[in-house]
Amino acid sequence: MENNNNHQNPHAIIVAYPLQGHVIPCVHLAMKLASKGFTITFVNTHSIHNQIIEATSNQTAHDHDIFSDALKSGLDIRYKTVSDGFPLEFDRSLNHDQFMAGLLYVFSAHVDRLVGDIVRNSDPQVSCLIADTFFVWSSMISKKYNLINISFWTEPALVFNLYYHWDLLIAHGHFASIDNREDTIDYIPGVRAIEPKNLMSYLQATDTSTIVHKLISKAFEEVKMADFIICNTVQELEPATLSALQEKQPTYAIGPIFPTGFAKSPVATSLWSESECTQWLHNKPPKSVLYVSFGSYAHASKNDIVEIAEGLLLSEVSFIWVLRPDIVSSDETEFLPVGFEENIKGRGLIVTWCCQIEVISHSAIGGFLTHCGWNSILESIWCGVPLLCFPLLTDQFTNRKLAVDDWKIGLNFCDDKNKPITRKLVSDKIHRLMRRKSGDGDDELIKNIKDVKRTLENALSLANGSSERNFHRFINDVKARIIS
Ligand code: UDP
Repeated sequence: MENNNNHQNPHAIIVAYPLQGHVIPCVHLAMKLASKGFTITFVNTHSIHNQIIEATSNQTAHDHDIFSDALKSGLDIRYKTVSDGFPLEFDRSLNHDQFMAGLLYVFSAHVDRLVGDIVRNSDPQVSCLIADTFFVWSSMISKKYNLINISFWTEPALVFNLYYHWDLLIAHGHFASIDNREDTIDYIPGVRAIEPKNLMSYLQATDTSTIVHKLISKAFEEVKMADFIICNTVQELEPATLSALQEKQPTYAIGPIFPTGFAKSPVATSLWSESECTQWLHNKPPKSVLYVSFGSYAHASKNDIVEIAEGLLLSEVSFIWVLRPDIVSSDETEFLPVGFEENIKGRGLIVTWCCQIEVISHSAIGGFLTHCGWNSILESIWCGVPLLCFPLLTDQFTNRKLAVDDWKIGLNFCDDKNKPITRKLVSDKIHRLMRRKSGDGDDELIKNIKDVKRTLENALSLANGSSERNFHRFINDVKARIIS
């Protein structure tokens, strides 16, 4: 642990958004801040905590505190849980909108009470609240307890910027009008041009009165009152977008936020039990295995899952496929073609969940069929694994644009999202990704991903990397604000 020779090291409460892709970077942010001398009180919802504990085989060690192993290295991270307003057994995946309504209308009351308790009873005194940008209560709670209001954004700056300028999209008729314009959007500060089909799914929706729209709209009113915004991205990856945001509010690109050494973290974060895959991978030739995962949150149609399964068979490529039980829906658990698991013996491995960073770091992995979650994209870049992009929901369409159109590190899975996926298309695309022959043009993917990987590595370089510098600047600016 770094001792900054500062007796007034800040104490920050971090509240993690209760979804897998937010909890993971939030935990690693907590570790990173604690390693710089911060005291952290980390807050998970009861439900997330419970799911993590149920998924962890070593339950006794972790029963009450997911950070217990990390504490052994001297970090000052305290752990609390809070109700999200629903009973533990409530199916948040099946009742998504009701869950989001809880986060919009009910959760703040629980957080308010907990933050009040922590503020009254903590030594050292709490000075900051770090809340995921999607929370709708951060300014209200930070004002009430006189805390510095820090917003943590876990997606690309481009996505942030588009939500931030939601009102401009409405004013120009690209969003929330009866007949949305379909021409290029070229008026968002810091975004030279973006096609409407690359907007986040919620900004492409025709019904804009949903709970999720209300939540995002409120969250982006809130973030305008944040004292500091920290983003899990890299300045050199999104320079124009970040500069535009930095003109509005103090914004720091501090990514990619990974566990130390990109190794399996001592802190359990997975919501499902991880299957061991490395033994199976050890027997496979280098770069021969396709890793397939659609993340923790999005759903795919049963028809798409069947066509992907048949396409994987047809391709004859080896694969690991992460298939959550609720990938179609938690009340639709029979989705694979009959006999599929027997037909793929030896060549394919199907798991509910795995330690993704461990799997994609393995030399046998040669490609990633991904839903384009932002963490997955960053992790794949870090491992130099090219992408086959199959966005399903939310920011994934915008992330695809960055990966395929801007950085050219991935291929599109479906070129026309209105056309149904067929097994032949699946097999052809997998061949293009996995069986690239030199000279056929796709080796560009490898060259490009190596370049982008270098950008990420440079950003984290202790000797003056941009994210390292930004992280230090952020810490110094927070400390200056505490003193003033
Ligand atoms: N992940 C994992 N095991 C899996 C699938 C995913 O550990 O079997 C992790 C992955 O490494 C990433 C996160 O879960 O850190 C998923 O985040 P992402 O932003 O990619 O997608 P989301 O789940 O938010 O849609």
